[in-house]
Amino acid sequence: MNREDRLEAVTEGHDAARQRRIESARRALAASGAKECADCGELIPEARRKAAPFARRCAACQSEREREFYCR
Ligand SMILES: [Zn+2]
Repeated sequence: MNREDRLEAVTEGHDAARQRRIESARRALAASGAKECADCGELIPEARRKAAPFARRCAACQSEREREFYCR
């Protein structure tokens, strides 16, 4: 491996690590405030996400869940 190849390999490794960091940050963000409903996969409206940043479900599925919970 010549010097340039080694340099390239180092740079690539660096980029991969950076990519992983970005990826995990993005995942953490997604985990704290899902964009899509965990139940039906529908996009959660931005207004709802702002009102309930930790909501994992759309309003419909959430009320469904709550009804289930209270009926028990
Ligand atoms: Zn839903």
